[in-house]
Amino acid sequence: MPFEKSAGAIVFWRKKGEIYYLLLHYEMGHWEFAKGNIEKGETLEDTVKREVKEESGIENIKFVDGFKEHIKYFYKLKGKNIFKIVTFFLTEAKSPKVKLSWEHKGFKWLPYQKAIEQLTFKNSKEILKKANEFLIKHENIKKTR
Ligand code: ATP
Repeated sequence: MPFEKSAGAIVFWRKKGEIYYLLLHYEMGHWEFAKGNIEKGETLEDTVKREVKEESGIENIKFVDGFKEHIKYFYKLKGKNIFKIVTFFLTEAKSPKVKLSWEHKGFKWLPYQKAIEQLTFKNSKEILKKANEFLIKHENIKKTR
């Protein structure tokens, strides 16, 4: 079975102690984090920086040490089943300014609970839950919303 590997980032932004997460509206209709295929010679972190920049225009993201999670899913492309693994990092944006590429039709910065509701897939909601708990534990953010 064809196998695909991508890397992506849960991008967050802090405003007055509150955390907002960046979600992208994919052309196919789902809401997800920024991600994309790993190109030859790239480390996962290289892919994440490139994809976040290409898809949202956000540069200079800061990686939160110690957070690295995977999701796995199957999808169909031209009648063929594809198995995909996406590795997610947790990264902070310095500014909420977003410039979308043609690949997406919208974006939202959302607080935790709203982001959980907006995300399309259960596996991504679980990753966001882990990311939010990680930030509460390690970055001293408030346990709210
Ligand atoms: P990439 O952003 O990695 O280049 P892509 O835009 O080509 O990927 P995906 O976002 O992986 O493609 O979407 C391909 C298919 O997988 C779509 O049908 C989508 O609905 C489905 N899909 C996307 N994310 C998930 C997920 N987290 N769980 C299950 N299915 C998903």
